[in-house]
Amino acid sequence: MDYRRTYVKDLLASQPQTGVEAFGWVKTRRDSKGVSFVQLSDGSCFNDLQIVIDAGTLPDETLKLLTTGASVRFTGDLVASPGEGQSVELKATGAEIFGASDPTTYPLQKKGATMEFLREIAHLRVRGNTFGAVFRVRAQAAYAVHKFFYERGFHWVHTPIITASDCEGAGAMFAVSTLLEAIEDHSGETPQTLWKLHNQNPKSDFFGKPAFLTVSGQLEAETLAMGLTNVYTFGPTFRAENSNTARHLSEFWMIEPEMAFCSLEGDMKLAEEFLRYVIQYLLDNSSQDLDFFNKRIEPELLSTLEHVANSSFEHLTYSEAVKHLESSGESFEFPCTWGSDLQAEHERWLTEVKVGRPVILTDYPKDIKAFYMRQNEDGKTVRAMDVLAPRIGEIIGGSQREERLDVLESRIKEMGLPIEAYWWYLDLRRFGSAPHAGFGLGFERLLMYVTGMKNIRDVIPYHRTPGNAEF
Ligand code: ATP
Ligand code: MN
Repeated sequence: MDYRRTYVKDLLASQPQTGVEAFGWVKTRRDSKGVSFVQLSDGSCFNDLQIVIDAGTLPDETLKLLTTGASVRFTGDLVASPGEGQSVELKATGAEIFGASDPTTYPLQKKGATMEFLREIAHLRVRGNTFGAVFRVRAQAAYAVHKFFYERGFHWVHTPIITASDCEGAGAMFAVSTLLEAIEDHSGETPQTLWKLHNQNPKSDFFGKPAFLTVSGQLEAETLAMGLTNVYTFGPTFRAENSNTARHLSEFWMIEPEMAFCSLEGDMKLAEEFLRYVIQYLLDNSSQDLDFFNKRIEPELLSTLEHVANSSFEHLTYSEAVKHLESSGESFEFPCTWGSDLQAEHERWLTEVKVGRPVILTDYPKDIKAFYMRQNEDGKTVRAMDVLAPRIGEIIGGSQREERLDVLESRIKEMGLPIEAYWWYLDLRRFGSAPHAGFGLGFERLLMYVTGMKNIRDVIPYHRTPGNAEF
């Protein structure tokens, strides 16, 4: 058995021929007079291959085991299909079953299973229509991301997952330590014990100082951009926040481009080109899967995606957006005033009601944004930009970075951050500083947008959220 063979996808696109084989899992089996029909799937594409088994062709003991979930190799002839929905089907002459699946206990048999139930059987859910489509689209989207950047001269850089600096302050962090063993010796003690042990002798911990799982690769990506010019990261990041929402994961994948000799204008141009490119790529290369999402998950999906791929994004400053929100006449749960962060309800109103397509908001108040964003002349706002999308709100957050050493140093002090920890970051401004900009995009947020899936837990194979790390 070779990995290079004809997949269901290839068979469905072929002309009738004799002597073919098809591997996969039985999705359904239906018997009528003198003939059995099996829908066979190998995950290579959305559609199944129909297998037609005339009575008497296969031994009874084989037929008996051809139940939902069983893995099998069929041999036979590919013939034109008289049925609707498929052009060819396989007329079986033989079948070899690798693994039977007891239909009385196979959990994926349940009709009308909820997303919540399917999440509990995440090791099997990929065999169904929805999750097969989700993970195929995820793979295609990842490919489109790399293709987009490579075509534009960006280098993929691998920034550390374990970090010793909470440089960005982007979110609460998970500690990485080998002192847990010591804790286990004192059963019943709280995690603070780790810090007690650590503080007694920091050098005794693995890295000789507190270490964490990264919340963002941005600062490290900046160092690489200051030599490679255009770079991007694409890898896992972690947030230890207790955000039990449909749009937050504790472990998620981020894409972070960073460009030297680039201003906020170039950054916004890249963000817009990027989103439209990935969407167009999926419309062109994942159409069967997207059709399914359009039919079963999100009714307006295809028209929205086509609209976004073909229209330019609206640009508004934060201050303009706040004015629109204040005069909107809507009663929001959280009132919107200049200086406060926009809530999801505000972001959705702007994109869905006010503008009707993605919006890029710029020039946010400096107090609600990170220390490294470039200050505007007004002394109050920074060169930040967020891309907001209908249905999900913030999808991208980016900025032009502060390249002036003195301004950056005073901002770090003003915010009460430990300036010593940033020595290497400040060095970039000491030796050949240059205007630069970048953004961060949560890959799963993008996937929610392009599939219409409502919960972020359903666009990653195994979700990590507060209270859950199954599988
Ligand atoms: P939010 O306000 O939605 O929590 P954030 O301001 O914390 O987002 P950033 O720190 O700017 O987000 O992170 C960059 C991008 O990463 C966001 O635009 C979003 O797409 C994504 N993101 C942030 N937090 C999460 C999370 N917990 N799970 C999944 N994606 C996330
Ligand atoms: Mn957050």
